Amino acid sequence: MPIYEYQSQDPENPDRSCRICSKGFELRRPVTRPALEVCPLCKNPVRKVISRVNTPTITKPFSPVDAKKAGFTVLQKRDEGVFEKL
Ligand SMILES: [Zn+2]
Repeated sequence: MPIYEYQSQDPENPDRSCRICSKGFELRRPVTRPALEVCPLCKNPVRKVISRVNTPTITKPFSPVDAKKAGFTVLQKRDEGVFEKL
């Protein structure tokens, strides 16, 4: 079941949004159900936000060089159970 993210159409306006939809909320809904149009809590209009949750992010593993640049200590496995600080 996909997760949709919704946010108030007027998040800056406290009369038109509640603490839930002013920040945005996620909702699991079957695809067959129509899109949510109002906040379930305050009944004010909401819009669908492109979900960040379902977006596949390709996380490239840090190369040792990148990691070291980022301030990590890079350990490389040399032998069974032996790590060498590079
Ligand atoms: Zn609301």
